[in-house]
Amino acid sequence: MEDPGPGPGRSDRPLALITGGGTGLGRAIGQRLARSGYDLVIASRSADHLAEGGRRLREGGGRVAEIPLDVRKPEEVDAAFARVNREFGRLDLLVNNAAGNFVAPAETISPNGWRAVVGIVLDGTFFCSRAAFPLLARSPGASIVNIVASYAWMAGPGTAHSAAAKAGVLALTRSLAVEWAARGIRVNAVAPGPVRTEGTDARLWRSDALVEEISRGIPLGRFGTPEEIAEAVEFLASDRARYITGQVLAVDGGQWLGRGVMDLLARAGDGPSR
Ligand code: NAP
Repeated sequence: MEDPGPGPGRSDRPLALITGGGTGLGRAIGQRLARSGYDLVIASRSADHLAEGGRRLREGGGRVAEIPLDVRKPEEVDAAFARVNREFGRLDLLVNNAAGNFVAPAETISPNGWRAVVGIVLDGTFFCSRAAFPLLARSPGASIVNIVASYAWMAGPGTAHSAAAKAGVLALTRSLAVEWAARGIRVNAVAPGPVRTEGTDARLWRSDALVEEISRGIPLGRFGTPEEIAEAVEFLASDRARYITGQVLAVDGGQWLGRGVMDLLARAGDGPSR
């Protein structure tokens, strides 16, 4: 992408654009970044999500803009970043957080279902990163943080489409980290463990019994909070992480490491009390 030059409305505060920033983890990331002095742009499809997210984020006092956007559509993505350039004249951080997911055995996933998930997660991350590049390249200390999941490097039975897409995002994270290092853009990823949000409570963690069962498999014994995920994003975007690029930070209570024989013994009723 060519640099069109900064637009007229250049802001003094750093600007972060968060896809899917109106709900769940995206909104929590926005709240954390606002406390660190960022202006925010949140971008997603639903007018309701954007309006409610914008209202909640403005309670932090900073400038917040909402841009309707389907990250699967490259023309919409390019138009959104052109608008960011016109209205803010800068971009310092892109958080590729938007995602779609559903649980289904792989053989039952339709081509449309596959394309929807891979389109949002992998295509969307690439389209947004590509469109953000000229703006980020102008900002000293710019970075991208991609939100993945540990099945990006493990296995995602029941969510093969999402696992494949997140694995692609992880490969993209590392590739762009190397390609864009010379332009001063760092690219990292955060892999949240299970976190309860309105969206995941409705779609995934539907009962307290399920949450308890999953928590037993997590070495730290509990789900994460949106704030804990947001802390990691804020850190990776900050100057404290200025020598970190191409990395993925799992914020999952040790979940992906597993509990090995401890789990097997516990299931057999023969486990240690921990
Ligand atoms: P969420 O609230 O459902 O967030 C998903 C966001 O993506 C929504 O704001 C949605 O907004 C947006 N979105 C979906 N399709 C889009 C599209 N085509 N274009 C633009 N935006 C789109 O879920 P969440 O739990 O906060 O998830 C946030 C991120 O964390 C995701 O990347 C997810 O994979 C990751 N993650 C979450 C967990 C967890 O337990 N919560 C665990 C591991 C990883 P609209 O509906 O307005 O488009």
